[in-house]
Amino acid sequence: MQAKSRFCGAGMIMAMACAAFAAVPPTLREADVVVVGGTVDGVRAAIAAKAAGASVFLVAPRAYLGEDRAATFQLDRLPSDDPSDPVFREIFNPLYAKPVSLAATLSTNAADAARIVLTADLGSVQPISGASAKVPVLVRQDAAFRKNAPDLYATARVVIETSEDGESWKPFADLKRADNAYGHRSSMSPFEHRAEATCRYVRAIQHLETDYPRQEPGVLRVLGPVPKGLRDKVTPFLIKRGLDKSMLAAGVPFLTGFPATDILRDSKGKFAGVVVASRNGFQSVRAKVLIDATVRGRLAERAGGARRPFPSGDRPCTFTVIDRAGKMHVHELMLPFADGSAFSFLAAEQIARDRTWTSDQADAADRIAYATPDTFTSLPEGIFAVGPCAEKGTDAVAVGRAAGRAALLRSRIGDAAPLSPSLPVLASYDVVVAGGGTGGAPAGIAAARQGAKTLVLEFLDRLGGQTTEGGITGYYFGNRVGFTKEIDAGRNATGKVPYTAKGEWFRSAIRKAGGDVWFGSFAAGVETKDGRVTAVIAVLPDGTCGRVLCKTAIDATGNADLAASAGCETEFITADELSVQGVGQAPQSKTGGGRNSDIGFLNDTDAEDLWFFGLRSRLSMPDDTWDQAQIPGSRERRRLIGEFYVTPYDVMLERTYPDTICRTYSNFDTHGQTRDPQFFIEDPPHAAMYVNLPYRALLPKKLDGLLVTGLGMSAHRDAMPILRMEPDVQNQGYAAGVASAMAVASGVPVRSIRVKALQHHLAEKGIIPFETLETGDSFPPKDADFDRAIRTLPSDYEGLAVLMSDPARSIPRLKEAWRTADAPDAKLVYAHVLGMMGDRTGEATLLAKFESASWDKGWNFRGMSQFLRSVSWTDSYAIALGRSRSLAARPALDAKAVALTADMHYSHFRALALAYEGLGDPAGVQSLARLLRLPGVGGHALRAGDKIPPVRNYSNREGDRERTLVLKELCLARAIFNLGDTPDGLGRRTLEAYAADPRRAYAEHARLVLAAPRGTSGK
Ligand SMILES: Cc1cc2nc3c(=O)[nH]c(=O)nc-3n(C[C@H](O)[C@H](O)[C@H](O)COP(=O)(O)OP(=O)(O)OC[C@H]3O[C@@H](n4cnc5c(N)ncnc54)[C@H](O)[C@@H]3O)c2cc1C
Repeated sequence: MQAKSRFCGAGMIMAMACAAFAAVPPTLREADVVVVGGTVDGVRAAIAAKAAGASVFLVAPRAYLGEDRAATFQLDRLPSDDPSDPVFREIFNPLYAKPVSLAATLSTNAADAARIVLTADLGSVQPISGASAKVPVLVRQDAAFRKNAPDLYATARVVIETSEDGESWKPFADLKRADNAYGHRSSMSPFEHRAEATCRYVRAIQHLETDYPRQEPGVLRVLGPVPKGLRDKVTPFLIKRGLDKSMLAAGVPFLTGFPATDILRDSKGKFAGVVVASRNGFQSVRAKVLIDATVRGRLAERAGGARRPFPSGDRPCTFTVIDRAGKMHVHELMLPFADGSAFSFLAAEQIARDRTWTSDQADAADRIAYATPDTFTSLPEGIFAVGPCAEKGTDAVAVGRAAGRAALLRSRIGDAAPLSPSLPVLASYDVVVAGGGTGGAPAGIAAARQGAKTLVLEFLDRLGGQTTEGGITGYYFGNRVGFTKEIDAGRNATGKVPYTAKGEWFRSAIRKAGGDVWFGSFAAGVETKDGRVTAVIAVLPDGTCGRVLCKTAIDATGNADLAASAGCETEFITADELSVQGVGQAPQSKTGGGRNSDIGFLNDTDAEDLWFFGLRSRLSMPDDTWDQAQIPGSRERRRLIGEFYVTPYDVMLERTYPDTICRTYSNFDTHGQTRDPQFFIEDPPHAAMYVNLPYRALLPKKLDGLLVTGLGMSAHRDAMPILRMEPDVQNQGYAAGVASAMAVASGVPVRSIRVKALQHHLAEKGIIPFETLETGDSFPPKDADFDRAIRTLPSDYEGLAVLMSDPARSIPRLKEAWRTADAPDAKLVYAHVLGMMGDRTGEATLLAKFESASWDKGWNFRGMSQFLRSVSWTDSYAIALGRSRSLAARPALDAKAVALTADMHYSHFRALALAYEGLGDPAGVQSLARLLRLPGVGGHALRAGDKIPPVRNYSNREGDRERTLVLKELCLARAIFNLGDTPDGLGRRTLEAYAADPRRAYAEHARLVLAAPRGTSGK
């Protein structure tokens, strides 16, 4: 079954909610006390309320905790930060300081290449706090690379020992390459171990990697004792992670990325909970008592809190930036405020950026800092405030305790009454762009330049998305023409650090063209009327929620958020198979560098998974991390199934269209397994290719007034690697912006614009060649193409894409070719392709080949640097037999299953699961269950509430290992379940365990399998 199932998870809640709040939004959680806001005092109050015996739940608006300090770069310990408070002890923990290296005399026995010993002599016996051996490690692992570079060196393991006398040695650490900070990706990575010891000598014994000719001696550093007492200054990362750890240690559940927008009351007007917004739509947290710990205190105000006036006029604020040398500059600014509304703050934030930009800016705070003038003077019963909006000197711990006790006195949570049925109008624009990322920022610039009154709503605090906040500042392929050329020139002229310079160029270009940018603002859905988008629902940084009216909306969320909220058909994780590209959210350096990482899967449609992925990433990062990328690096997300759906065949055959708006350029950088049947036979090409993208891939099928750009475009997942490069998404976003302004100017829906005029503009801009305006659709392929493909197929499957593009036309030709082929190899090729297309004509040929084949070199999951195939030939034959429902193949499949052991490659397990599911023969359950019961194959699901296992050193290889184990288990469980399950329900049990897994990409897949009619998934 092709992956075209309509996504009907969290997005549907959003759709419902956007019809406004006639009803109470669905319940996310219930607790005695709800804390809104992830400020330091919010965390302290939440922990205190829990200690008072109440159940507590905290929701924070940003993607992390610490919006008062981490977001403003207020990194110093303040005199008022009580050193005995466990939260401050966690944040300012001295152990997180990088201790100084001790002076030592170093010696080595470099002559023995297999076992290099580095020894450090400190001169006297003294306390140490750790040792770090920075040794050269293998750069890449694949065999071809080794063969071509026989002098590559590699250190597999470093054993560190200490001694007082240089004679008797004590073990200190035994570090494998997996412990190494960056796995196989770096050529000089530290093997570091931190622990206290007393010694004079430290030695690091480097062990050579098997099969490698040599290794190089590294550098050994011995770390001095950690200073006593709390640290005076930390990083944004340590604040965020310190707060995470404090909450986890106290057992207080929390979610980040859930701004609170409103309060719920019961029929008597008493507080009954809050409304929160997120990718999951609007939901409610039902509670007896509220602690407002946000920066602005909007909810406590809505609940009836009285506050001091917010005087209009210029106010003193600070905005902190960091230069390329890592120096912090705290700019003191007088910024104008009309009032205390979100709009005043949105405007002030922009002015702060205008005034503080310098070309060597390497990082900047997320928001301005200021002394809050309108603190609360009184609050109604059951409503508490802590943090910046509370009266100066408020003791958050005391408030937390009081709130906990107050909640315990209230017998139950009141039944929430429905909210007001309409949302206020916040503003009115011609074009609203939701998401100011790689595609959205160019869309905003283009629309504004074309004269449309344009707003860009961006959840983060810098434009550019992956290209800036994700840390992916360098291009990998992409057609660097047209608007991308202008961006690159603008970025280079704007600043010296690509990350910040690009974000700043985007911001200034939009504003120069007359457009507006709202940072920290979340597009929570759309409002539609008569099949057309009329408004985008926006949640502003302080939780203000309302409608932004528009004539056209551009969904540049990279996740088709708006399209899904409007009920458009979309696709992402399916019941069929869990095939999604890998994701990372890597450390970010102080001077503007990110890291491309791939450590797990992420269900981008699920706000709880965004939280968990970010949290787990932080818990996996080294203590000396400056910050974490602000946005998870998810390469594959929810996509529209639009007016036109780009298939892998369109890509492979370089299809032309009458409405091409972009020529993309890349290779199949698949970051995991492919799933289109074509790629079960031939390798997705490693060589880069040019591919056309039609305008219709941005258009929903029915809804008007919406364009979807970026990773949310309408294309099959296996086509996306060629379409998704940054230079191409930028040009595509630009095209969407021009198209939206054309629609506004001519008063027609975006689907009715004059596409030739759009193309003409794009050709003038250099995005597409002028010849493109003359091309038509090159599909369907001609009969002669099919005939030629039949002739060339025996030669390494040449022409396969033509044949796979239309099985109805290919199968009769393939049958005839199989019947008349003399050469056994050719016969097998025809039988193989027929089988993959679901035709059993060549069964005997294919089966004979499969029976005689043994398990060959398979594939374990690999995200980073995964090119070419993800199945072996034997895997491929098994899958083809399954797809053709070859019941005669069962004994051969059984025999192959018996030959599998737990440690063999994942792709063999995947192939068998797919093959048995294809057959649909319940007898397959026995073989599959035996495999799932092999020691080490099962039991890899995480339980909610379990200690969150870190991904060691945030290493891609660790992530690969975990995904290999999980995918092996999941594919077997799915197949067993689909085939009717074992009498003791092994398949269901395993899937149910994953359905509750906090890694919610796995959970979503498992839930979909459990919910699908038996036997319909896994094909
Ligand atoms: C880890 C990684 C590595 C990559 N490596 C490369 C590479 O080396 N070279 C290359 O050319 N390409 C690379 N790519 C591909 C490329 O970066 C992406 O395909 C592209 O950036 C996606 O653009 P986008 O506009 O769809 O999404 P994004 O750039 O992610 O932009 C989406 C924006 O929308 C915002 N947003 C989302 N939802 C909402 C909402 N509801 N309300 C308001 N704002 C919202 C987000 O905060 C974000 O700023 C990589 C991608 C990833 C993830």
